[in-house]
Amino acid sequence: MRGIRHIDLTDVQLASSETARRINRDIVLELIRTSQPISRADLARRSGLQRSTVSQIVEQLIRERWVREGSVASAPRGRRPTLIGLNEDLVAIAVDIHPRQAIAAVVDLNGRLLSRALVPLTSDPEASTRLLLECMQRMMRAVSKKSIEGIGISVPGRVDPATQRLTFAPNLHWPDFDLKKVIEARVGLPVKMENAATAALLAELTFARMDGTRDAVLVTVSEGVGTGVFANGQLISGNHGLAGEFGHIPVDPAGPRCACGQNGCWETFASCNAALRYYRELQPKSRAVSFSDLLNLAEEGHSQAAQALEKQARWIGRGLRMILAALSPSTILIAGDITSAWHRFGPAIENEAATLTLSGEPPLIRPTHESEIARLRGAAALVFQRRLPQQRELPGDAIPKAD
Ligand SMILES: [Zn+2]
Repeated sequence: MRGIRHIDLTDVQLASSETARRINRDIVLELIRTSQPISRADLARRSGLQRSTVSQIVEQLIRERWVREGSVASAPRGRRPTLIGLNEDLVAIAVDIHPRQAIAAVVDLNGRLLSRALVPLTSDPEASTRLLLECMQRMMRAVSKKSIEGIGISVPGRVDPATQRLTFAPNLHWPDFDLKKVIEARVGLPVKMENAATAALLAELTFARMDGTRDAVLVTVSEGVGTGVFANGQLISGNHGLAGEFGHIPVDPAGPRCACGQNGCWETFASCNAALRYYRELQPKSRAVSFSDLLNLAEEGHSQAAQALEKQARWIGRGLRMILAALSPSTILIAGDITSAWHRFGPAIENEAATLTLSGEPPLIRPTHESEIARLRGAAALVFQRRLPQQRELPGDAIPKAD
């Protein structure tokens, strides 16, 4: 706590009583989110704030519509307290874009999916966006009684944090196109975009309780391989949002051509498209299958399908070495369709990772909760995080008290 602390003078904001109030508000909102329904008295006990301060913050949160009063708690004697919970009438439209399709959903403040629809996409961004807009507008009409806070979009690529434009999306094959601007102009709601892996990681941090974890990497395995990085308690975006492109580090220069233009990137060996290629190599005369067909075939005892998936799993594990050496995370989360066959993938990935750990315990490797839903909840979290607490970005020093 003593001594010199690095302060970047290009972007400083002096601590004021306003800063302390904002931090306390964030803590109270986080306590409500994780312990709802909860009384004001319990909030005071849990936060260490005075009752009057808690009441003021709760009134503010009710005015802002983030929380609402709900049921009345039973108490042995005296006045029965009104319990506070998140306002589930606050929703976001979440869109998860894949190269050939998008999934749109209405997600509430608790991360629950209220509706969901599939939209086919093509390499024409304008035509694709038209279809997406029609779908979103249908969904919005269906929840017109709720308050729609914004639109969150997770994309298979990197988004520049400053411009919110796609800077790198080799699998999407879209020419330069300002998706955010087009949708905002048509719908009139704020749009937030983020890389799918980073969005899914944000969803895990927000909805799945990872308190105490300061170093985690989430790996999405789908048409490509993406990673979201949480290091030293911060989500990392890097210059132009390009940090964490482990999927495009070549692991074998003699390997197949990658969509990014290089040869033998990790994703050309570890993605679902790679598994389909392994299957075609083993079974050249087979009909064209999708990745979910491949998972089903393996479950039905088809040995070539199982071999193709095992090879993919080994390559996922092998590529984790780059992540372990670069970031030394305590937790690695895996998201994507492969998590539905975790009994097959989990042990193979863990075996590879255990032999690759440089020192000490290997990291915890686990599938994300509800695999594909993680990306949708992540897209919704992009909208809500603006005012959901950013506890992990607070300074490590003592939390100031407002009273
Ligand atoms: Zn590549």
